[in-house]
Amino acid sequence: MDASIGIPPAVTDETEQFWTNAAQGRLVIEHCLACGAESFPPRGMCRKCRGRSMSAVEVAGRGRVYSFTVNYQRWLPDLEVPYTIVLVEFPDHPGVRVIGRLRDGDPQRAAIGLEVEVGFEPGPGGFAIPSFAAVEGAG
Ligand SMILES: [Zn+2]
Repeated sequence: MDASIGIPPAVTDETEQFWTNAAQGRLVIEHCLACGAESFPPRGMCRKCRGRSMSAVEVAGRGRVYSFTVNYQRWLPDLEVPYTIVLVEFPDHPGVRVIGRLRDGDPQRAAIGLEVEVGFEPGPGGFAIPSFAAVEGAG
């Protein structure tokens, strides 16, 4: 599927740092300097204590599929269907879930608990969009 099809993401003060890091292949989330909670997507405010002192932390390591959905609807003329959207959580970053496309084309591969690695694809407007690939040999 050509990931450059679609609507460019809105870049705000809160998300600018995320997209800058994404362009360099890094997935960053927000870490609260007050209570230590981690948040995604970035919004400049802690989801737990509503503190506004947030620092960017890079997500390291593999994630696991928390839930997924297979989309058979051709929303846009050039969209290749079906494709799978996964919601991924990371053992080292409790409470953080990141949504993205599962790059392996076969929707049969999608499963809850599937181990995945994050990567980035060129998206609409020249933005790097996070997506996921199943880790070979994992299950
Ligand atoms: Zn906090």
